[in-house]
Amino acid sequence: SSFKSMGLDNDLVENMKNKLGVEKPTNIQSKAIPILMSSINKNVEFDVIVQSETGSGKTLTYLLPIVHRLINITIDIQNNGLLSRSIGTLAIILTPTRELAIQVVSVLKYLINIPPSKFTSRHLNHWIVIGNVIGGEKKQSEKARLRKGINILVCTPGRLLDHLQNTKSFLVKNLCWLILDEADRLLELGFEETLQSIIKILDEKTINSETKNQIFSSSKFWPKRRQIILCSATLKDDVKRLAGYTLFNPIFIGG
Ligand code: AMP
Repeated sequence: SSFKSMGLDNDLVENMKNKLGVEKPTNIQSKAIPILMSSINKNVEFDVIVQSETGSGKTLTYLLPIVHRLINITIDIQNNGLLSRSIGTLAIILTPTRELAIQVVSVLKYLINIPPSKFTSRHLNHWIVIGNVIGGEKKQSEKARLRKGINILVCTPGRLLDHLQNTKSFLVKNLCWLILDEADRLLELGFEETLQSIIKILDEKTINSETKNQIFSSSKFWPKRRQIILCSATLKDDVKRLAGYTLFNPIFIGG
């Protein structure tokens, strides 16, 4: 299979080839991307477990379907005269370490550095805001960035929980995706309770879709329900337990 045959945006696929040299899907990408894309067309509601070893292309597996939809949502938003910033955070990617969070942001920045097209008058990265919240900078400056609106947020758990509890006008009600990247390592590092608290707060703030922005109802690209994608190299008991109490109707995809 090819990335284009999976229904991914042509500009996105071309840009990925040019900027990252990625042309042919890996095994896990061939299996998982069509399933992650299918929730657009069929409007079915399910969470996903992606199990595959480090280095197998897991990052692009979850990023590509998200970026695909962000491109389309961006077009919708502009057609509706809204700004991305007013939509707040649409995807949160949780990573066990700062280093991984920084790496994911850098891949994302390449992916959305898409030149203007018939749909957008400027580079796509003008419309979609990507950012890290990982500590290592003053909390006030993180707060300021969150307040302005980070559409795809890549963060470590402790810092995210802190901001969910303490940063007013950190807008998450429109959240569509929560990614638990390297879930096995998140648990090894002792983040289980933090993850529970994060998910509880996100449930409270996002589950009532009536409070979502009105254009949700007018666009087929917004998932009806927030989707959780749990990625892990291994599926030990603790990961299974986490999956058991966090995921809804999960589909398992192994690499
Ligand atoms: P990951 O498993 O996501 O950490 O990816 C490991 C490495 O594989 C990264 O350097 C990616 O850029 C690269 N990669 C991911 N997908 C592909 C692909 N389809 N073709 C070639 N390289 C890839």
